[in-house]
Amino acid sequence: MSDRVRDIVIVGGGTSGWTAACYLGAVLATPNPAEQVQITLIESKDIGIIGVGEATLAHIKQIMSTIGIDEGDFMRCCDGTFKSAIRFDGFREKGETWWHPFSQLSHVNNYAMVHLWLEARRAGYQGSYADAVAQDPEMCRRFLAPKTADHKPYDGLVNYAYHIDTIKLGRYLRDLGKQRGVRHITDLVTDTAFDESGNITAVSTQENGDIAGDLFIDCTGFRSLLLGKALGEPFRSFNDALFNDNAVAMRVPNPEGKRDIRPYTTCSAQDAGWIWNIPLYRRTGVGHVYSSAHMDREAAEQALRDYVGPAHEGLEANHIPMRIGRSERAWVKNVVSLGLSGGFIEPLESTGIYLVELGLTLLRDHFPTKSSMLPFAKRYNRHMAAYYDEIRDFICMHYCLTDRTDTPYWQDCHNHGAIPDSLQEKLTLWQSRLVSENDLDYTSGVPAFSAVSYNYILAGMNALPNGPLPAEAMHDLGLARAVFEDRAKGIEAIAAQAPDHMDLLDQIHRAG
Ligand SMILES: Cc1cc2nc3c(=O)[nH]c(=O)nc-3n(C[C@H](O)[C@H](O)[C@H](O)COP(=O)(O)OP(=O)(O)OC[C@H]3O[C@@H](n4cnc5c(N)ncnc54)[C@H](O)[C@@H]3O)c2cc1C
Repeated sequence: MSDRVRDIVIVGGGTSGWTAACYLGAVLATPNPAEQVQITLIESKDIGIIGVGEATLAHIKQIMSTIGIDEGDFMRCCDGTFKSAIRFDGFREKGETWWHPFSQLSHVNNYAMVHLWLEARRAGYQGSYADAVAQDPEMCRRFLAPKTADHKPYDGLVNYAYHIDTIKLGRYLRDLGKQRGVRHITDLVTDTAFDESGNITAVSTQENGDIAGDLFIDCTGFRSLLLGKALGEPFRSFNDALFNDNAVAMRVPNPEGKRDIRPYTTCSAQDAGWIWNIPLYRRTGVGHVYSSAHMDREAAEQALRDYVGPAHEGLEANHIPMRIGRSERAWVKNVVSLGLSGGFIEPLESTGIYLVELGLTLLRDHFPTKSSMLPFAKRYNRHMAAYYDEIRDFICMHYCLTDRTDTPYWQDCHNHGAIPDSLQEKLTLWQSRLVSENDLDYTSGVPAFSAVSYNYILAGMNALPNGPLPAEAMHDLGLARAVFEDRAKGIEAIAAQAPDHMDLLDQIHRAG
């Protein structure tokens, strides 16, 4: 009997399930039909998808182009807009704003930009770190698109991602997956059957009997039907490090004639959490992420309605409890969990879909045979656990470094009693020297966030050392100043080429 994995069964038809079906279909395709992997996706019509998850990271471009999706089609199908950065309002101090852009210039002439920036600041340079090293914040403030109509798909003047309607994305991927041969079953999975070694052999459905498979992908959302329930894998909560455990979301139609669609996500700090603002082509997604220990659901919904203003009248609010943390292991026996079933970290840095993408890329590189599940699973689990823990630490920095003490929530963030050891160790290092790529605990070749991204957060939270240590300093203030004058000219040159965000969106959306 062949040792090859031939039948993949995906349970769950949200963003994770359909992205997995299309991506695995593309990367496991073979010219020989006899060797083709069969992918089956089962989703319940009665259990909805989470329906939020609208801000993405730049990695999505790689996944969509690997699947073979046309960028314009993709944007038209999911009401897409461009995203070049995240703007954080009021996280360090009320009324203060800083940016986490996607562009990442790390070095000039072998000098780290952050060193040059610290030197230039000592010489009186006033610009923020993000403005000094990236074009995106200035382009965002001017509502400019990250690319022109002449750029190749997935390529641009600066790096970028998208804002998307996640429900529409699911439908788009479902149609594509089915066209490409994914077997789609709409049914409720009620039970699982195991062999003597504890592998799942089949899932039972209400109307379609047993569906057998070699490899099962659990994409059942917070229910975690296969990994959590059937296999009993323990869940490791991150709530001691990250307090936010609930969200309430609304969909606000864009007013007729709206032109100022932001090419960035906005995260605005609130009394006990923060509000996202994710602009799509036809509507805006807003949501309040909050800590239920500091605010009740009525107050959270009211704060969101106040944020929206008069347009909130008559709009439905969707309350979503969030299970924050990760499964001890993401891959157990012949079950791999992807998306919310394996873990979730609150959406402050748009890492939900990104973690699905990281999981899929790793699964491609660790695609097993039936008899080799264990060593592949072990390595996969080490990588995924490192990604989740690193992202937990990265998000925690946005809270524990705050100077705010104006509400009990911000006092608790300020006097954070449970910073993970892994983060505390790094923060201690970074009090006296700058972030080095070597500080980032990753095992898979690429950290979830680069040292430049860490610098954006540390600079935004005013937590970089005052100047480089003597050993790191270059003490060439002339060079530092010259580099930033050059950068300013470079930013103007790129901005001059960039079209208005809405003009480009109109062109893309009307082309379909
Ligand atoms: C408040 C909030 C905000 C978020 N914001 C962002 C963001 O801005 N950016 C981002 O990248 N991510 C974000 N995320 C995460 C993102 O929404 C998810 O990562 C993404 O939607 C994937 O969800 P999923 O497919 O894993 O689960 P779901 O969408 O919950 O899908 C679960 C699927 O499982 C099926 N199912 C469940 N049980 C059964 C059963 N017994 N039988 C058959 N089928 C079953 C359901 O029918 C459904 O199809 C956010 C999440 C939350 C909670």
